[in-house]
Parts: sequence; C-alpha cells; structure tokens
Amino acid sequence: MDEKMLTIDLNSQKMIAKAREEGVETMYDRKAGFKSQCGFGLQGVCCRICGMGPCRISPKTPRGLCGADEHTIVGRNFARMVAGGTAAHSDHARDIAHTLALADPNGNYKIRDEAKLIALAKEWDVETEGRDIYDVAHEVAEIALMEFGKPFGTLRFIKNAPEPRQKIWKEYAIEPRAIDREIATIMHSTHIGCTGDIDSLIHMSLRTSMADGWGGSMIGTRLSDILFGTPVPRRTEANLAVLEENKVNIILHGHEPALSEMIVLASEEPDLVALAKEVGADGINLAGMCCTGNEITMRHGVKIAGDFHQQELAIVTGAVEAVIVDVQCIFPALARVADCYHTKFVTTSPKAKITGSTYIEFREEQALDDAKSIVKEAILNFKNRDKSKVLIPELKSGATVGYSVEAVVNQLDRVVNSHIDPAGTVKPLTDCLKSGVLRGAAGVVGCNNAKGVSNEAHVTIMKELIKNDIIVVTTGCGASAAAKFGLMETDAAEKYAGKGLATVCKLVGIPPVLHMGSCVDISRILDLVGAAANYLDMDMCDLPVVGIAPEWMSEKAVAIGCYVVASGIDTYLGIMPPIAGSSRAVDILTSELKDKVGATFTVNTNPKELAATIIEDIEKKRVHFEALVEEKMGVEAEA
Ligand code: SF4
Ligand code: SF4
Repeated sequence: MDEKMLTIDLNSQKMIAKAREEGVETMYDRKAGFKSQCGFGLQGVCCRICGMGPCRISPKTPRGLCGADEHTIVGRNFARMVAGGTAAHSDHARDIAHTLALADPNGNYKIRDEAKLIALAKEWDVETEGRDIYDVAHEVAEIALMEFGKPFGTLRFIKNAPEPRQKIWKEYAIEPRAIDREIATIMHSTHIGCTGDIDSLIHMSLRTSMADGWGGSMIGTRLSDILFGTPVPRRTEANLAVLEENKVNIILHGHEPALSEMIVLASEEPDLVALAKEVGADGINLAGMCCTGNEITMRHGVKIAGDFHQQELAIVTGAVEAVIVDVQCIFPALARVADCYHTKFVTTSPKAKITGSTYIEFREEQALDDAKSIVKEAILNFKNRDKSKVLIPELKSGATVGYSVEAVVNQLDRVVNSHIDPAGTVKPLTDCLKSGVLRGAAGVVGCNNAKGVSNEAHVTIMKELIKNDIIVVTTGCGASAAAKFGLMETDAAEKYAGKGLATVCKLVGIPPVLHMGSCVDISRILDLVGAAANYLDMDMCDLPVVGIAPEWMSEKAVAIGCYVVASGIDTYLGIMPPIAGSSRAVDILTSELKDKVGATFTVNTNPKELAATIIEDIEKKRVHFEALVEEKMGVEAEA
C-alpha cells in the first residue's frame, strides 16, 4: 500500500519506505496482512471466558453454550476492557506511590514540589505543622496506597468534583470504592455464570473507570508532580528529526516517570557524557516516545521522538543506540526490528518482559545506579552503529509544552486586572467561555490506531476545532501528534485558530493546543474542568466542554472514555469500540447515559464529519450554558 495511505506524517512515510527496502517488517506491513479482521471480534460477540467456548453469536447461534446472549457477551467484553485499562493506570500509580514512600533527602527520589505535597497532606488530614517534609510524604504515600485496597468507604479524590457531580455519582451508585476492588469485582462479575445483564455490566464499567480517572490516574499525576516537579511551560521539539547523527541516541518509551527521570539524570552525569565522547560521539541525546516521552517533555523539555505508531520507525532510522522501555504500549515487535539494526532494546520492568530484548531490571531502591548502567550500555553500543544504514528524516517542529493546571492558571493571571479580580483562579477562562470568545474547550486524547491513517484524525479534528474558536487541551499520543504538526508552536494560533481563540492565545501567551501531559494526566483535565464548573457554580456537564479520542486503541482509552462520560463530559470516538453486536449496549452508551450522568458517547470514523458534529454539539451546549449563566447572574443581581 502507498505510504501516504498509511500515515500523514512525512517522516514516517520515509521510514516505512526505508523499512521495506531493507526488508524490515513493521506494523504497516502487518496491517496489510490483517485486511479483513474478524467480524465477531469487531462486534464484540465472541466469548472465550470459559472452557466450553469459544462461542460466537450469529443468527444461527444466538446464544453461547451457557445461554449468554449478545448483550451479555458484548457487555462482559467491554467491562473487561475497562478493567484492563483501569488496572494499567492504577498499577502505574501504585508504583509512583511506592516511590514516594521511598523518597529520601539523601536518596535518588526527592520531594520536588513541597507546596503540592503539603496541599495534598492537608486535603487528606495529615498533620504538617512542624513535621519533617519526608515524614509527611511517607504518610501521604501510605494513604495513597490504601486507596487501592481499603475495605470501606469511597475514593478520596471524588470529593474534589463539583457538588452536583458528586450527587449524580451517589444517586447512580458509581462512586468508586477501593481501586483494586473495582477491578476485581469486574473480573468476578464477568466470570461465567455471574452478571448476565447489560445495564449492570455497563454500570459497573463506569464505576470501575471512575476508580481510574478519579483514583489511579489522579494519584499518579499528583504524586509524580510532588516527586518530579509540577510542569511549567517550556520549549521542545518533536518528530524523528530530533535524533542526532553525531550523538548517542537513546529513546525512552513506555509510561512511568520513576525510570525516565533517573535516565534523564544519568545522561547528565559527567562520567557518562565523557564516555560518550570517548566512543566518538558528541554527547548523549535523549528523546521520548508515547507517554514516557510526554512525562519528560512536560518536566524537562526532553524532545519528543514520536508517538505510538513511530516506535518501530525510530529504530529504522538506524541511528538509535537504545530503546529503553518500562511498561505499556510497547510493541513486542521492537525486538525483531532492533535485531535488524544495532539498536539495543532494553526492557526494565518485571511486569513487561519481552522475548528477544535485553532485560536490565530497574530497581527503585538503587535507581540512579541502575539508570547509569542502562545508559552505559547505550553509549557502548554507539561503535556498533552501521553508518550506511543511517537515515534521519528532516522534519521536526518546535513546541511549547508543560501546561499543568497550575501553569494554565499562571498564564491566565497575565490577563487578570489586579484591581478587580484575584490572581490564581480560572476566572479568565470562564469569562472567555461566558462571553463566547471561546466557543468551548475540547480534550483531544488517546492513541494511534492502525484502523485509520496515522495522525490524520488527530490533526484534522484539532485544526477544525481551533479554527472554530474551540481551545484544545491534549495528552498522550494526541499531544505528540499536535506537537509534530506545529499546533503547539507560538505562531500556531495566528496560522490555524479562529479570531476569538487567536486573540485569547495572544493575550494569554499560549498556543491554541495545550500539552497537558501523559494519559494519566487526563486527571489534570478533570481538575481543570472541575475548577471551571466550581467557579461558575455549575456541574461539569453544563459547560461547553467535550472529550475526544480520534484514534484510540488501548483498553486504557476505553477506561478513560468511560470516566470522562461519567464525569458529565460528552465523549467522541473516531474508532468504533467492539460493542456493535449489542443494540442495548449501543443504546445505553450513545443515548441512555445522558439521563443518568449527563453525557454520552458519539462515534464517527470520518474525522471531518466527527469534527463537524462536535462543533455543532458545542454550539447546542452553549444554549444551555448561556441560559444558566444568565440565570445565575439574575440570582446574583437580586441578592
Ligand atoms: S461463558 Fe458462555 S458464551 Fe462464554 S465461552 Fe463460556 S459458554 Fe461460551
Ligand atoms: S495515548 Fe494510547 S498509545 Fe499513546 S501512550 Fe497513551 S495509551 Fe499508549
């Protein structure tokens, strides 16, 4: 197939062609082999959860051997996707909490954001007065760890949501209890002979996803900021051209900052920089990929090599000494691609060993030493680079990244009239939404999916939204796409945004698409929308705000979609989840949830059409929003 039909990224097209010339198999070749995917799987009507199966639903066999119909089978499969996604985010968060428990002023992991730690400690009723900050940190870490398995009560962070939202969760009974408990309950309820009711399966999917967004992911983000610093705006560059011909190129791929932060430190160690020079390189060049890339670009401005679909292509440049990974979204295929070049594919986590990789375990107790050994391996591999195979494509784009909620509020302070309004609030943002200068806000998140053309849906939708004065915040591989295509550049507002958004960007000093971090950092978006709703004394579903996953692929994205909808934010998908086999599942998810949680899913695989629907829906939401604003102003005036 023509490379142009596979990805809109010109660097990627070049690398796909190079891989083909060199006989290296990539996802794009495998995609051709999977032209017709199994219809049962696509519709979600295949079940293999017991030894009597697999069973699949068709007009001739409308029930599985146990009697489960299409609704039960689709519902169970969907619920298990949510459980898988929640487990991934939450186990990530658990590791960060364990890292916080290890924090030591003389150790590798220190407290970088004391104010955030103190704020969280106070929120959780931990005594802070006169105490050593590390004692406070350890107590906070222990409480965070209890969130995974506490026997009673509900998760602490749900109290941060606007009150009307909390009421909806209580009434609909989706307040998450302990994180692991929700995941285990789904695995239990979807065992053969348990839940056989689609409404109930979707209900428990929503509750479990809440344990991700308002639990695991939120814990992950908060504690990562405490340990590694809350991001502030900084400049970086994105796309494969950030690899450098004369340097030792190290790609960091995966998710958890505990590893990548240490690699960043290790790569700055003078003895390792000297070693790089000894082997003939000009230095060490780190570049990130997927969410690990997002974590280190947010906090250190480390360059973004690419997104999920570029992980093999980075190796195909022939210029990568090592790909260092931890967990999640790592193609096992990297072992085979790395074999075709000199690249060392280094796995580090006992949770994600991959056959054919070099396994160097990363232990948090001796983090910097382990990180140094891994970086050393990469440096020593420089001499094995085959220059005749090196081709670094030319395109890259500048980007400003690092928009944590705190950073956004800080930028907004630039337009606060200090005689009238206090600094440090989201008021300027809510004022823009109220006046209609900004028509709305959209969180564009998620992966790349081989069902479509890589990056096409992300870029098309983001461009359409900003053209229509809808500000975009983004995380995950959506953020990498935006960075690569120049949407986080300082002049992007002038180039692509509508007049209202362009004016706001100029005054506030931001690009029209804001990088808010990794996938767990979608919790930052929840915080921001929650803060805006609180400021306006509204519920999150009252705001002209939407969530979009144009190219989603992972179970984590399914969990994210569910908690975003459960939070009252309409969510738009560019890929159909495997639910079409159950008309009830489709009805509930795309329509009935509106009455329960104030939001639903909409799916359209055509990015242009999806963007048009979103813009239309935001305008519809504005009618309700503006009426509510007026009503509140009337009440205020009377008072
Ligand atoms: S649980 Fe039922 S539908 Fe699923 S594989 Fe077993 S018998 Fe078949
Ligand atoms: S956006 Fe999707 S593909 Fe990218 S790192 Fe996150 S889960 Fe993985």
